[in-house]
Amino acid sequence: MSAIHELHPHGLWQHFSAICDIPHPSFHEEQIREHLIGFAKEHHLEWQSDAAGNVIIRKQATPGMENRVGVILQGHMDMVPQKNNDTVHDFTTDPIKAYIDGDWVTAEGTTLGADNGIGMAATLAVLASKDLHHGPVEALFTATEEIGMIGARGLAQGILAGKILLNLDTEDEGELYIGCAGGTRIEINGDYTTEDVQNGLAYKTLTISGLKGGHSGCDIHLGRGNAIKLLIRVLHRLEAEGVRIASLTGGSLDNAIPREASAVIAIPQSSRVACEQIIDQCSNTLRAELAVVEPNLTLTLSDAAPTAGLMSLQAQNRWVAAVDACPNGVQRMSDSIAGVVETSLNLGVLSINDGKIKAHILPRSLVGSCNEALCDAVAGLFRMLDAEVIFSDSYPGWKPDPDSQILATMKRVYAELYGQEPGVQVVHAGLECGLLGSKYPEWDMISFGPTIRFPHSPDEKVHIQSVVRFWDLLVATLKAVPQA
Ligand SMILES: [Zn+2]
Repeated sequence: MSAIHELHPHGLWQHFSAICDIPHPSFHEEQIREHLIGFAKEHHLEWQSDAAGNVIIRKQATPGMENRVGVILQGHMDMVPQKNNDTVHDFTTDPIKAYIDGDWVTAEGTTLGADNGIGMAATLAVLASKDLHHGPVEALFTATEEIGMIGARGLAQGILAGKILLNLDTEDEGELYIGCAGGTRIEINGDYTTEDVQNGLAYKTLTISGLKGGHSGCDIHLGRGNAIKLLIRVLHRLEAEGVRIASLTGGSLDNAIPREASAVIAIPQSSRVACEQIIDQCSNTLRAELAVVEPNLTLTLSDAAPTAGLMSLQAQNRWVAAVDACPNGVQRMSDSIAGVVETSLNLGVLSINDGKIKAHILPRSLVGSCNEALCDAVAGLFRMLDAEVIFSDSYPGWKPDPDSQILATMKRVYAELYGQEPGVQVVHAGLECGLLGSKYPEWDMISFGPTIRFPHSPDEKVHIQSVVRFWDLLVATLKAVPQA
């Protein structure tokens, strides 16, 4: 038994506790889906599931509230399965061990699944309630959000009747989210011819490390160093001294800012001293440029074993120039909302090895046409090198509507509850609202949630008091929804 049962609001935490007991990592959502359907049957609520794995549960308006605009309460069923190296846990069979740690609820050695278990639990608590006041409610539990937003992508048009969508999947209590960026995954594949090892070359590994990294959307405005771009910049300088690339590896995910990159290079004996000087200068320059945001930036040169297969000189010249020229980071800030990034991209992964080059780039924008233009620019650059450019997983953004009626309602409700204005935010990352809004363009959408820290990591935790405030805001908002 877990003490989280005793937390307030009881209904929400009891549902959350039950969700923790049911394995529900992405692509293993059958049991949670059965749980939701079982709940609907037990409460005599109308339900349906669809081919994409989504579950919809409908609840009629409470007496006197029949004339209100229909509301869709939405969250996703799946959670990100991450555990510490020393934790033994099978996410497909084992329950999450949630516990109270001071002001927070967290889990023993694994992700907690507050993202988006708290959103699901709040929705179930509304559906089960007998004492709340609300108009017609449709609960939409989407499948497999965390990998490709598969449920939202597969949702059919015309099956939901409500006109206001409350997405319960953001992670800062006190903030209302009214927009998000769309994005497209870009994969680049190239070939190059190799040349055999020559005499008179010293093999070295050039490594850039100590960078902070971060989320390629939410952290892109912080101006952190991109290890791949910085390493390529140094290599570009070294080309004048006849330095040759044997291999290169940087970054691990397209949606993470790369923290580390290294290249095995061959340096002509005659230009060793000059190269070491250039590397020292570059190190000083980069450390000075990024002194505030990347105080631990380190550029090191160490001995490496000779390897066969240097990149041909022509391929090296062209690829180094292209990667150096490839745009990266913030491209434009929003004109309509101060301080918000409109368009950005992240060069997240680059590998050069054994005649093959692979890169992963993720552009994002609040504005679809800007995202397309950036995709065209990047594709054009690498197609000049005869590379294959593949686009996938494209999802639309959610354009902020500052005149939204539900935004005005929630700002008023929040101020009445807490005596202050909520923040209004646009997130430079993907929310399902972008895809959902593309199917239901008439919806008035907003997103909010309790405070969750370190989601998608074993340190994930949800702030207990923020759950109370989130719940009270949800309840008051349902009561205040305007008439149809
Ligand atoms: Zn989520």
